[in-house]
Amino acid sequence: MAGLLFILSAPSGSGKSTLVSQLRSMVPNLDFSVSWTTRAPRGSEQEGREYHFIQRDQFQRMIAANEFMEHADVFGNYYGTARASLAEAAGRGNDLLLDIDVQGAAQVRQSMPQAITIFILPPNPDVLERRLRNRSRAEGGVEESVVQKRLATARHEIEKYHEYRYVLVNDVLERAAEELSAIVIAERSNANPPAESAQPQTSELPRYRKLAEQCLLQNSAARLQPVLASFGLSL
Ligand code: ADP
Ligand code: 5GP
Repeated sequence: MAGLLFILSAPSGSGKSTLVSQLRSMVPNLDFSVSWTTRAPRGSEQEGREYHFIQRDQFQRMIAANEFMEHADVFGNYYGTARASLAEAAGRGNDLLLDIDVQGAAQVRQSMPQAITIFILPPNPDVLERRLRNRSRAEGGVEESVVQKRLATARHEIEKYHEYRYVLVNDVLERAAEELSAIVIAERSNANPPAESAQPQTSELPRYRKLAEQCLLQNSAARLQPVLASFGLSL
């Protein structure tokens, strides 16, 4: 395994966490980096599973000790990726997946331009709003100010889509999950010749490669145009 680094970014509520959990059940040898955050746990989130939940002073001490590969202030809370995540994944012979915001992705891209970056778009603002509300309801209540803050931020995050190598639209979940898996499988096969690759899907490889290729930024204009227009943006 080459120790590939995958970075996934999306506006909050796009379905990134849902897609990540599908992806992890579909492809082996992919570690998920558990970030550190100063925000409070939400719903059924558990310490050490979704995040390491810490206080601001502890986060600031970790910044001072240069423990983060990247960190950012998102919606008024700190979020950061520990440098140790990469070494730990490599030690296990696994690739690593980061679920981080557009600011964090830009920082990692600076130091690791080989990182494989993927942006996930919601189909349109109405669907995004519905998903944000559904999730809040499932977690015990809709906090209107939180939903509005996340919707307002979404457009600014979406403006950064062109900084990513791949862009997906999370409309039909199964299709988006398959596209995401195809990207991981295709990038692994680029890094390791198929004969040496530990991937079981070798016979399916041409199909995955084709699917991944369709998700490359430069091949996505027709698919992205209506989605961007719905957010008041152009290609
Ligand atoms: P994020 O991690 O991007 O903030 P979540 O994965 O928590 O978003 O998803 C937000 C909500 O949308 C959840 O209720 C989830 O079940 C739902 N959801 C995610 N993807 C889809 C999809 N393709 N179709 C319908 N609902 C979805
Ligand atoms: P949430 O609070 O909904 O879990 O996440 C809010 C945003 O913070 C999402 O865009 C998510 O990708 C981002 N995020 C989560 N962990 C990190 C991290 O370690 N670094 C950065 N920069 N962003 C993160």
